[in-house]
Amino acid sequence: MHETVVAQNMIDAVLQEAKKHCKKPVRIKVSCGQLNALNEEVFGFAFDVVSQGTLCEGVQVEIEHKPFQAQCQDCHQTFDLDIDQPQCTACQSDSFELMPDAPLILEEIEFLEE
Ligand SMILES: [Zn+2]
Repeated sequence: MHETVVAQNMIDAVLQEAKKHCKKPVRIKVSCGQLNALNEEVFGFAFDVVSQGTLCEGVQVEIEHKPFQAQCQDCHQTFDLDIDQPQCTACQSDSFELMPDAPLILEEIEFLEE
């Protein structure tokens, strides 16, 4: 399952950082695109299971879903693509190029401050 593998990788990365800083992580922020989107419920469950017994146990997970971005061929504006209304938000042109999907990344780790 996609979510379990991602949870494992994220936890490994968080633990590495936690060791480096000798601090306990309390919250992480993950961002993803549309094609690699994480299901929040499934990811939350996978994260809880995989983090059991590690420093990541109980860490709060926030997921940011980034929309598709497109660049208008007419006015060259980059905009968030609305799948239901695929047109440039600046000039309403329907001639645009789809940008690469946002990567799945660990954006932030918040540590417990002592
Ligand atoms: Zn435009």
